[in-house]
Amino acid sequence: MKTNEFAELKGKVALITGGAGVLGGGMASILTHYGVIAGIMDLTIEGAEAAVDAIKKNGGEAFAVKANVLNKEELQAARDFIIEKYGRLDILINAAGGNMPGATIGPDQAIYDMQLPHLQKVLDLNIIGTILPSQVFSEVFAKQKSGIVINISSASAQRPLSRVVGYSASKAAIDNFTKWLAVELAGKYGDGIRVNAIAPGFFIGEQNRALLLNPDGSLTQRGEKIIDHTPMGRFGVPEDLDGALLFLCSNMSNFVTGTVLNIDGGFAATSI
Ligand code: NAD
Repeated sequence: MKTNEFAELKGKVALITGGAGVLGGGMASILTHYGVIAGIMDLTIEGAEAAVDAIKKNGGEAFAVKANVLNKEELQAARDFIIEKYGRLDILINAAGGNMPGATIGPDQAIYDMQLPHLQKVLDLNIIGTILPSQVFSEVFAKQKSGIVINISSASAQRPLSRVVGYSASKAAIDNFTKWLAVELAGKYGDGIRVNAIAPGFFIGEQNRALLLNPDGSLTQRGEKIIDHTPMGRFGVPEDLDGALLFLCSNMSNFVTGTVLNIDGGFAATSI
C-alpha cells in the first residue's frame, strides 16, 4: 500500500502541448498544485505566457514554450531547451488538438460537400500533432528509461459524432496510437515508460462553445442532444479530469499502460 500518493510528483517536469487551452491549462494547473513544473507549449508565446502567469499567481512553477506540434524542428528546439534548463522531462501531455469550423459538415450538407484541405488539417492536427511530439519527447524517456505520455482522445473516437468526420477519425487514430506506443516503448525500454489516453466527453471550450451554447448561454439543439445523452446531465468542467490525470501521472498507475480512460459523465456507457 502506498501512502501520500502524489508526493512523488513534486519536482517532476511536464510538457503540455496546447497548454494555453481550456483542458491543457486545467491539467497544467492541477499538476503544478502537486509540485510538478509545467511547460506550457502553444502556438503563440503570448498565449503560453498568459497560462504560465495564471499558474504562477496560484503559487505554481511553470514556463512557456512556443512550438507548433506539426513542426519537428520547433519541437526539437523545445526539447533541447527543457533538457538544458531542467536536465530531464517526466511527463508529456498531448493536449493540442480539436476540430476546425471548415471541417464540420453543415446540418444541410452531405459528405460530398466535405472540403479535403480542411479535413486534412484536422487529421494532421490531431493525429500527426500527437505522434510527432511523442516521437520527439519520448526520445528523452527512452534515454531515462522513464516517462509518462498522456494523449487526449474524445468521446467521438469510440462512436463517431455526426458532422465531424475528420475529428472523429483522428481521435480514433489516437486511441490506436496510444496502444501502439505503449507496446513499442514498454517492449524496448522496460516498465518505466507508460502511455495512456484520457477520453473527455463534452467540456465547453473555445472550439465547441458555439456548437453547444447559444450566445445567451442556453443550449443549442446539438447541445441539448448531448446533454440528453449524458447520464450525469451536464457538461464536464476542466477539474473533472484532475483525478484521472493524477492517477495516470503517478506511481498509483505503475502497471497501467495502453489504456483509454473515459471521463464523460457516462456518455460512452449508454446508447439512448
Ligand atoms: P482549446 O482550443 O481550448 O485548446 C487547444 C489549444 O491547442 C489552444 O491553446 C491552441 O492554441 C493549441 N493549438 C492548436 N493547434 C496547435 C498546434 N498546431 N500546435 C500547438 N498548439 C496548438 O481546446 P480544448 O477544449 O482545451 O481541447 C484540448 C484537447 O482536448 C483537444 O485535443 C481536444 O480535441 C480534446 N477534447 C476536448 C473536448 C471538449 O469538450 N472541450 C472533448 C474531448 C476532447
